[in-house]
Amino acid sequence: MIALTLLLAAADPSAPCVRALAAAPGMACVEAGRGVVLAEDESEARRLAAHAVGAEARFAQGFSGAPAPYAVIMAPSASARNGLRAAGFQHVLSWPAPRSFNEAARSSLEAGARRFAASQGMTETQTRQVVERALSQLPTPEAQAALDAGMVPHELGHLWFTAAFWPDAAASETEAPRHYGGPGPDWLDEAAAVVMEDEATADQRRDQFRALMRGETLPALGPTDGRPVLLDLAGFLRRDHPGLARAVSVAPDLARSGGVGVSFTPAGAGPAPATLERLFYVQARVFSDYLIRTSAPAVLAEIAQATAGGQDFETWLARRGPDLGLPSSLAALQTDWDRFARNF
Ligand SMILES: [Zn+2]
Repeated sequence: MIALTLLLAAADPSAPCVRALAAAPGMACVEAGRGVVLAEDESEARRLAAHAVGAEARFAQGFSGAPAPYAVIMAPSASARNGLRAAGFQHVLSWPAPRSFNEAARSSLEAGARRFAASQGMTETQTRQVVERALSQLPTPEAQAALDAGMVPHELGHLWFTAAFWPDAAASETEAPRHYGGPGPDWLDEAAAVVMEDEATADQRRDQFRALMRGETLPALGPTDGRPVLLDLAGFLRRDHPGLARAVSVAPDLARSGGVGVSFTPAGAGPAPATLERLFYVQARVFSDYLIRTSAPAVLAEIAQATAGGQDFETWLARRGPDLGLPSSLAALQTDWDRFARNF
């Protein structure tokens, strides 16, 4: 009797994994809250599903709602992607398999190191040493798994956020998700994604913020004084995402490798685009903390709602700021942010 029940359950054509596997046969499927994860094997699918479920909980808290049905799938074919959409999975997030993840990061690192060596006229032996040193920076499998815990929720956050507040734009998105350039202001789009990340990633960004505010340089960012950039709120609020140019110029899978790469920037040339991009995430994390702690857990949702309705942030702040415990002008917000950032 139990076996029969299981058989019937497995054959239920409306079950999410049954629908998903009809579109992408031969994969392992695990249900994850409102979505499914399809991977090469079940343990990998379970691992990613746990990250997605964590993101759903944070989305419910920050955006007061459930995301539209979604599928996370490793290396989908075009027909699998289309089939999943037709089967009702509004968002299809392509996720690189761990192996290709590593290979993409490796070849990117090696190419960068070789370019650098060539530009310095190095010998073959010196070039080999530079390449070896660069490759030794590659994250271990454990470190990559930790990256997924932040990045799967982050990428889902971009998709869910756009669909929740700009449904027309989300519906017209037919290709792989663009990391940047949703209809909302870039800072808000990025803040919505960053607040989906797991606690470990969030704390790492907060620690980086504090270190930069103390005037320390971080190996992950290179020799940059990040403090003036972090304090410049007006710049943050109007800035185009610093990753935009890079996102356009490199393969999407590489963009998702977490920015692993070697960049050789001459000292004194100002922050490189990759550095600005990492500062942008750090700033988005702590500015979100500031807004949430000062006002309310769902404040980003309220700002998004107003923005989607055609109101800019400054107008929203003047109207709603005082009720929420926030300053009512951008100038006053800058002053308050300065105080918060220095005491964070
Ligand atoms: Zn992002």
